[in-house]
Amino acid sequence: MSADSRTALRICPLCEATCGLTLTIEGTSVTGARGDRDDVFSQGFICPKGAAFGGLDADPDRLRTPLVRRDGVLREASWEEAFDTIAARVPALIEEYGPRSTGVVLGNPNVHTMAGALYPPLLLRTLRTPNVFSASTLDQMPKHVASGLLFGDAHAIAVPDLDRTGHLLLIGANPLESNGSLCTAPDFPGRLKALRRRGGTLTVIDPRRTRTARLADRHLAIRPGADALLLAAVAHVLVEEKLADPGALTDHLEGLGELTEALKEFTPEAVTTACDVDAATIRTLARELAAAPTAAVYGRIGSCTVEHGTLASWLIDVLNILTGNLDRPGGALFPLSATARAPRPAAPGKGFALGRWASRVSGHPEAKGEFPLAALSEEIETPGDGRIRALLVLAANPVLSAPDGDRLDRALAEGLDFMVSVDPYLNETSRHADVVLPPPPPSQSAHFDFAFNSFAVRNQVRYTRPAVPLEPDRMDESEILARLVLAVGGMHGAPAHTVDDLAIGAALAAAGAPEELAGELSGTTGPERRLDLMLRLGPYDLTLDRLLDHPHGIDLGPLEPRVPQLLKTRSGRIELFPAPVAADLPRLLRAMHREPAGLVLVGRRHLRSNNSWMHNVAALRGGSNVCTLQVHPEDAARIGLLDGATARIRAAGGEVEAPVEITDAVRAGVVSLPHGWGHSRPGTRMSVASAVPGVNVNQLLDGTLLDPLSGTAVLNAVPVSVTPAS
Ligand code: SF4
Repeated sequence: MSADSRTALRICPLCEATCGLTLTIEGTSVTGARGDRDDVFSQGFICPKGAAFGGLDADPDRLRTPLVRRDGVLREASWEEAFDTIAARVPALIEEYGPRSTGVVLGNPNVHTMAGALYPPLLLRTLRTPNVFSASTLDQMPKHVASGLLFGDAHAIAVPDLDRTGHLLLIGANPLESNGSLCTAPDFPGRLKALRRRGGTLTVIDPRRTRTARLADRHLAIRPGADALLLAAVAHVLVEEKLADPGALTDHLEGLGELTEALKEFTPEAVTTACDVDAATIRTLARELAAAPTAAVYGRIGSCTVEHGTLASWLIDVLNILTGNLDRPGGALFPLSATARAPRPAAPGKGFALGRWASRVSGHPEAKGEFPLAALSEEIETPGDGRIRALLVLAANPVLSAPDGDRLDRALAEGLDFMVSVDPYLNETSRHADVVLPPPPPSQSAHFDFAFNSFAVRNQVRYTRPAVPLEPDRMDESEILARLVLAVGGMHGAPAHTVDDLAIGAALAAAGAPEELAGELSGTTGPERRLDLMLRLGPYDLTLDRLLDHPHGIDLGPLEPRVPQLLKTRSGRIELFPAPVAADLPRLLRAMHREPAGLVLVGRRHLRSNNSWMHNVAALRGGSNVCTLQVHPEDAARIGLLDGATARIRAAGGEVEAPVEITDAVRAGVVSLPHGWGHSRPGTRMSVASAVPGVNVNQLLDGTLLDPLSGTAVLNAVPVSVTPAS
């Protein structure tokens, strides 16, 4: 460190683990990052992505000023010009064509910023459009739907009690690469190793022998897409062998009898061919789960982005319930974040409903207020009342992340009257925008994890202010989004804090709190005042000032049981066998009897990547972080593929070519391509990413394969054919 260097604390925003970092800062540049040993949650852990914080922060390809399209070309513009343009176009389109003529796409980075959590709900409320799409329908929507149906709250997601469980069953999850998802746990690898050290057992079910699988006591290389069948058979054994014992939850359940009846046909013997897991092993899984003093089943993207994703997610909770492990220490528990509403007395709630409205073109039912992102193209292309004409894309790159990017690329280019992107990069999607609004680098932003604290394996709270001051001509992301709300809502020119004042007033009214509380809030910005209010209304008697007094965070203790207070179902109980699940179960039965497909495709994740948004950081590229088609040696020999040669992969949506990597880490009959690649389109400004673009796996999908309950795209277990490229 030089004489004028200093350090600053910053919660890492680069994955869901939310590690505390200590940044080294020279002038206004971040020159180093290490784990904050005093962080109450992460205790010094850091991964290669966090260590590359400075490179990501200082990426010269980041946009510094807004871009506005003039005469067909995106040109640098002032913030006033950018918002004037939006205010001149969007309200006029709404006036002429109605609210349905607008659409909003929310990308995954929104959950990684403070502003991304606080302002999009206000934007949606202002626009009053049903055309809402997000990365959730490429990822975790099945978990939300399952939780909504079971517990009446789509955000009530139980996480494995990693530090106390004795038996962990992971299905379709690879936390050694992802660092955990819908389970916020800094140093997930260390926590798994600690489980093994204290005599616990780890089972991993995954068609690939991932780094996580290599750590396990048992790895089952299941046939992709068969997770729900396997889980149903495990549940069947628990019931059949009278091993099911929901324990303390027994008085809070309904539907156990119907569930038992529905599981009858899912015997281990019946599912064994579809899963390619022998019946005896399935019985062993069930018996071990039942016998373990504490156990947790946890599933992630491999069990979500498949044709029975919601059923698989539901069955994961069912197994935790049947074994008495849901809502008990060592099992799967519901976190209670510092900004959650303070617990209310147990009582029936409003429940959770699917399909309250449907999409215009294909009639997709909404789930959690969203339509499938896979349906965005048709909502832009198809003429008629309600066609999307103005699209607001917040931190999303659906041309790469959604099925059939070529089609969406055309729709964005030809089908829109107006488009806004809030994005630090000119990427494959934002290059189509009429206005691009770039948020500042993360070092210049405050950080609080509204979403991830709700999935954390330990209750804690941390907040970091900007590590370096906002550069001249930059605009804070909260002000960008507040002014966007004002510009599309006919209040252009009002001060940005108007939005925060309205949000604070609404929150006070919803909580029945006195209006005067607004005057007592501390904080130097709108987001800080809103955070202070949420902390004051939350369950822990906290304030922003108290949080600022604890720069390494405040530990709020281990997770504790929250049933029945947390339930919001109409019955006030856990609804174990909800009607939408019952209606979808025959589809799973039919899949059980289906002939397994030939070659199928699965995705994969790399530790130094996070979807499409870190491919422009040189320090995170190369090595094993490459876009190759992994092929099992037997398949390679049969097809005539050589290691390093190029393969052509074909599926319903199209074809791509990728270098072959022969490895027995994938099971025979399965090939794997990573997602988020394909940076080869012209007109972007991502020099590192486009130098080694890779191919876009989603180009193999035509967008018609969805999990019907959640609208989530089927990204895994996709039938493909593979040949040597000539
Ligand atoms: S594990 Fe995630 S939060 Fe922690 S340092 Fe790495 S990228 Fe950042």
